Amino acid sequence: MTTKYVLVTGGVVSGIGKGITTASLGLLLKRRGYRVALVKIDPYINVDAGLIAPFQHGEVYVTDDGAETDLDLGHYERFIDEPLSKLANITTGQVYGDVIAKERDGDYYLGQTVQVIPHITDEIKECIRAAARHNDADICIVEIGGTVGDIEGEPFLEAIRQMRIDEGPEHVCYVHVTLIPYLETVEELKTKPSQHSVQALRRAGIQPTLIVCRSKLPLTEDIYNKISLFCDVPVANVIEGRDADNLYEIPLAMEHQGIAELVTEQLGLPSGEPDLDDWRDLVKRIKSPTHQVKIAMVGKYMNLHDSYLSVTEALTHAGAANDARVCIEYVDSEEIEEEGPEEFLSEVAGILVPGGFGDRGIEGKVAAIQYARENNLPFLGLCLGLQCAVMEFARNVCGLAGANSREFDPETPHPVVIYLKEQEYVTEMGGTMRLGAYPCVLTAGSLAARLYESGEISERHRHRYEVNNACRDELEAAGMVFSGTSPEGDLVELIELPDHPFFIATQAHPEFKSRPNRAHPLFRGLIAAALDYQADDKSGQ
Ligand code: GLN
Repeated sequence: MTTKYVLVTGGVVSGIGKGITTASLGLLLKRRGYRVALVKIDPYINVDAGLIAPFQHGEVYVTDDGAETDLDLGHYERFIDEPLSKLANITTGQVYGDVIAKERDGDYYLGQTVQVIPHITDEIKECIRAAARHNDADICIVEIGGTVGDIEGEPFLEAIRQMRIDEGPEHVCYVHVTLIPYLETVEELKTKPSQHSVQALRRAGIQPTLIVCRSKLPLTEDIYNKISLFCDVPVANVIEGRDADNLYEIPLAMEHQGIAELVTEQLGLPSGEPDLDDWRDLVKRIKSPTHQVKIAMVGKYMNLHDSYLSVTEALTHAGAANDARVCIEYVDSEEIEEEGPEEFLSEVAGILVPGGFGDRGIEGKVAAIQYARENNLPFLGLCLGLQCAVMEFARNVCGLAGANSREFDPETPHPVVIYLKEQEYVTEMGGTMRLGAYPCVLTAGSLAARLYESGEISERHRHRYEVNNACRDELEAAGMVFSGTSPEGDLVELIELPDHPFFIATQAHPEFKSRPNRAHPLFRGLIAAALDYQADDKSGQ
C-alpha cells in the first residue's frame, strides 16, 4: 500500500498536547489494523536532545538504537507499543548536518548553490520517508514541534506543504492542534488566536484538514461555527480536545470525537472498528483503583516533573497492574541532606531513586537509600540510583569510609563506581555514554529473575559510569548480590539485597520500556512490595 501521511502542526502556544494527540491518533489507527510510523520533528538547532538541560527540555527519551530524543517519543512508544528508532526524531541540526556533509563531499550537489528550497526541504522529506519506510508504514504521522509562525519551523512547514503535491492530495492529511483559551474576565472561550494561527498556516500554503481544539471547557456550537467559518473547514472537521484527568483517557475521547474516521476518510482508507477494550479497562483501573500507596521519588529536579516523565508513567502503569493509585511524593534530595531522611520518608511505602547527573544532592540520595535498607522499606534504584546504592553499601556495610563514584569524588579512596576506559562508547556525535539497548543475563532464582520471569533481558542505557569490578568481591562478601550482568559478565547491570524484602537497582533505564498494559516488572514489583509493606505497617499498629 502507498504510504499515507498525517502531518500535525500546532497553533497559539507550544505544550498544548500535540504529542499526546499524535500518539493517540497513532493508537487509534494502529487499532484499526494499519501499520503506523510516528515521527517527531524538533526544529531546534541541536542535533539531538542529549545535551539539552532537563529544565529546558524535560526528559531525554532513549530509543533501543541509542538515540537521545524528545520525550514525545515516549508517549508514542507507550501508546502504539512499538519500539521506535532514531529515524523517528528529526531536528534542524541533523538535517543541516547531513546537507552540509553532502555539500562538502563535493559530488552530491554537482556544483549547485545549496539552498533551503529545494535542498533542505528535500532532505527533510527524505528523513520523513526514511522513517516511514523503516516501519513499512501504511500511515506515517509526523508531528512538527513548536508553533506555526516560529522561524525555525519554516523549512519544515514548507517541506510538508510540498508533500501534498509530491505524494498526491489524497495521500496527505493536515491536522492542526490549537488552543481555545478561556478568558476568565468575560467567561468565554476565545477563537481569535486559533484563527490567527490557521492564517499563518495558510500563508505557508497549508490548509488544515482537521482542527483539534484544545480547551478546558466543552466547545459551544458558536465556537465550532466560528472555527469552521474563519478557518475554512467543515464543522464536522472541528474536533474538541478537552483537558482530561489522565492522559490515557485522551485516545478514548478522541475516538468518541471520530478523529480517526475523519483521517481515514481524507486518506481514502476504510475506517473499520478499533478494538479498544483493553485500553478502556486500563483507564478504568487507573481511575478507580482499590488501593492507594505513597512512593517517594528522591531526586534533583523535583519541581520539574517532566524530567522524569517516563518514570512517573511507569509508576502509573505499575499502579494499574496492582490495582493501586500511586501517589508520588517528590522529595528533593538536597532537603534530605539538610533535614535527614526520616522527615521525608517515614510516611511512604517505598522509595525510588531515578537517574541523574552531577554531584548536587548525591548525599541526600545515599541517605535515603540507607534509610530504605535499614528500615526494610522497598527500594528501586535506576541508573544513578544503583550507583548511589553501591556507594551506600560500601560505606555503611563494608565499612569503606569515603567510598564514592569517581564522577563525584575523583580522589575517593574507594572508587566503587568508575568510568571504564575500555568501555569508551565514542560515537560519531562525540558522545561518551553507554546508550541504547544492551543485553543482560540474570542470576537464576534472584529477585530480578523472578520479577522479569526470564533469564536474559534487554534494557536501555544512558550513562558513563559503571560499578568497579575490582570492588565486586568485597561487596558480594558483605551480602550484595549482582543479579544481572552483561553476558560476558564484565558489567554490573542489577544489584539486590536478598535479606531485604525488596531492594533492587538497575544500571539501565527500565522506565523507557514500561507500557500502559504491560507494566515493567521492576516497577510492578516495587508497587507490590510497597503494598505489602503498607499492609504490614498498618497491621502492626
Ligand atoms: N551520572 C551517572 C553516569 O553517568 C548516571 C547517569 C544516569 O543516571 N543516567 O553514569
